[in-house]
Amino acid sequence: MKAAVWYGKKDLRVEEREEKPLKDDEVKVRVGWAGICGSDLHEYEEGPVFVPNEEKDELTGEQAPLTMGHEFAGVVEEVGANVKNVKKGDRVAINPTLTHGDKPEDVDIYDGFSFIGLHGDGGFTKYANVPEENAYLLPESMTLQDGALVEPTAVAVQAIKEADMSFGDTVAVFGVGPIGLATILAAKAAGATRIIALDLSEKRLQKAAEVGATDVINSGEKDPVEAVHELESDGVDTAFEVAGVEPTFNQAISVTKARGTMVIVSIFSKAIEWNPMQLTGSGVKLTSTIAYSPSTFQRTIDLMGTGQLNPRGIITDKIKLDDIVDKGFEALSNDKSQAKILVELSGEK
Ligand SMILES: [Zn+2]
Repeated sequence: MKAAVWYGKKDLRVEEREEKPLKDDEVKVRVGWAGICGSDLHEYEEGPVFVPNEEKDELTGEQAPLTMGHEFAGVVEEVGANVKNVKKGDRVAINPTLTHGDKPEDVDIYDGFSFIGLHGDGGFTKYANVPEENAYLLPESMTLQDGALVEPTAVAVQAIKEADMSFGDTVAVFGVGPIGLATILAAKAAGATRIIALDLSEKRLQKAAEVGATDVINSGEKDPVEAVHELESDGVDTAFEVAGVEPTFNQAISVTKARGTMVIVSIFSKAIEWNPMQLTGSGVKLTSTIAYSPSTFQRTIDLMGTGQLNPRGIITDKIKLDDIVDKGFEALSNDKSQAKILVELSGEK
C-alpha cells in the first residue's frame, strides 16, 4: 500500500509499504482523510524532533523510516481477536496519543507519551493499525473529514480547559496558524465574548476573523500590547500563546489583566530569556498545555457532533497523497495563507 514515509529532514517519500499484521488488541482502520500538522512540518523542516531515529521508541517499538500522519479518521476494516468495543464498519477518529496509562488521566501524559504517526507508523496511508482504545466512534453528524479535524481541535479544547475560562471572558490569541484558529473556535464555544487575534500575517488574520475573532491586530504594524489595551483597558481575562517565540510570550502576559491567565499552547523550539518579575508585578497566572486527555478528545467529538464546535473553516486545501510533498509540506512552508491541509486517502464521507 502507498504511504508517505519520513526518512529524514526534507526527505518524505511516497512509496509502497507492506501492510502490517494486526495485533489482538488493535483495529485496522481504512483511512479516509488525514491532516498535516505543524509538528509534521517541524519533522520535515528540521527533524528529527520527535521521530525516533537512532533507536526504537519505548511505547511504539518502532523507529524511522515511519509512515507519518496523526490527525486521521476512517472506517474499521478489521478487528483483532481481543477487541470488544469496536466493530468492522465503524467510523472512527484516532486519538494518536500513547501513554503508559498507569496514572490518572490529567497527569498521565506528563509521565511520557508517544504519538501514532510521529513515534510510530501513522495515517498517511491506506490502512493504519491502532490500539482499540485509540479509536473513537464518530456520530452520524460528523464526516470523516470532520474526524480528521478532531485531533487539532482537541488541543484547543484542552487549552480552554487549562485556562479555566468563564462564560463571557475576553481572550487574546497570539499566533493564528491552525491551532490558533482552533483556539478561537473553542474559546467562542466556551462563551468568550471578545476574541482578539494577533499575528504578523494579514492572510492569517483574515482567516481568524472568518472563524470568529472579533478583533484582529497585525503585530507588525501596531504595538500589540497597546493595541489590546485600547480594546480592553484592563487587559483580557485569558491570553493564549500559540506562536512560540520570546516576543509573543512577553506580550501575551502583558495584555492579560491582574489575576487573569496566560496559557502556553505552542511548542517552543528555542529557549527564551524571561524575567519572572513580569508575573510578580502583574498578578498574571501562567500555565501550559500539551495535547489532550482521553476525555477531552471525547468531549471534542461530542462538541463537534452537536455542531457547537465546527472547525471546518480551518481547512484551506484538500490534496492527494501523491502530492503530499509539493502541495502539502512545501505549501505549508511557503504559503502563510495555508492553515489545515487535508490529505485524501480513501476519500469516503
Ligand atoms: Zn497535530
